[in-house]
Amino acid sequence: AVKAQGLHGYRFFTALMNERAQARRRIETALRQALSRRELSLHYQPKVDAQSGRIAGAEALLRWQVNGHELYKPDQFIPVAEDSGLILPIGAWALRQACKEARLWQRNGQAIPVSVNVSPLQFQHADFYSWLDDVLNESGLDEGLLELELTERMVMSGGDATTGLLRRIRQRGVRLSLDDFGTGYCSLSYLKHFPIDALKIDRVFVHDLTSDRDTATITSAIIAMARSLNKMVIAEGVETREQSAFLRHAGCSQLQGFLFGAPMSAEEFQQLLAATT
Ligand code: C2E
Ligand code: MG
Ligand code: MG
Ligand code: MG
Repeated sequence: AVKAQGLHGYRFFTALMNERAQARRRIETALRQALSRRELSLHYQPKVDAQSGRIAGAEALLRWQVNGHELYKPDQFIPVAEDSGLILPIGAWALRQACKEARLWQRNGQAIPVSVNVSPLQFQHADFYSWLDDVLNESGLDEGLLELELTERMVMSGGDATTGLLRRIRQRGVRLSLDDFGTGYCSLSYLKHFPIDALKIDRVFVHDLTSDRDTATITSAIIAMARSLNKMVIAEGVETREQSAFLRHAGCSQLQGFLFGAPMSAEEFQQLLAATT
């Protein structure tokens, strides 16, 4: 009986695996054409200054839409793009597009920094720095208006070569931030070794901030420590006034989340900028 059940469980498991593999293949096939069909776009989410509430920057976030409908969410298609290598052309496109759009804001007298998420595969690519340099030169965007969002794992894994690359990027004038901070395995004490400008506190901390004492304590400690290392601290996923007040008092520099604005199309974001600056 046990054996039979085991076999059944195994069959169920492989069926599930097959389904998932097929879903990924479907996404990959469609994704191969998404760029040339102009189905990908960037949406922008405001980051606001914690003290003044004014827009202090924007994060560029990939969207995959056909006829105005979202086909897949980034959490579904970005892992597929990474596994298939498609993230290289897609990521290069996103970087160029974000710089182009931020250059437009700059031209309109609304110069705010744009942040672009970088995937590990892009960052590890031998040509990453020269891509970045080309994009900056091409777009004419002031390099101080570009920020790259990296993850802890990317920064931690590479050793001296990685630290060297981070330094070069920063010497070029581009800002660096650590995304989803607190969810990886970056020890706080390591931070002083990495040439990064800012930390983004992951939204799981922000979410539990006002309901869980330990989370509140840890979050305050992260903010205090980052500040004493002269890093900027940004909180992501801020949804309530209570979270916002806590984070402001704890010393966060910038806040980002649905409370201040969801990601929106480039057009909508430009209108928002024009209306508020
Ligand atoms: P991320 O970089 O940590 O981006 C923040 C995510 O949180 C975004 O999800 C954003 O829409 C969502 N978010 C913002 N405010 C709130 C809030 O108040 N509450 C909640 N619950 N969520 C909020 P999104 O756009 O679905 O992107 C998911 C992830 O996909 C990103 O996480 C990033 O890791 C990745 N991603 C997005 N665009 C790109 C890209 O151009 N390149 C790469 N490599 N990755 C990207
Ligand atoms: Mg990000
Ligand atoms: Mg994040
Ligand atoms: Mg994330």
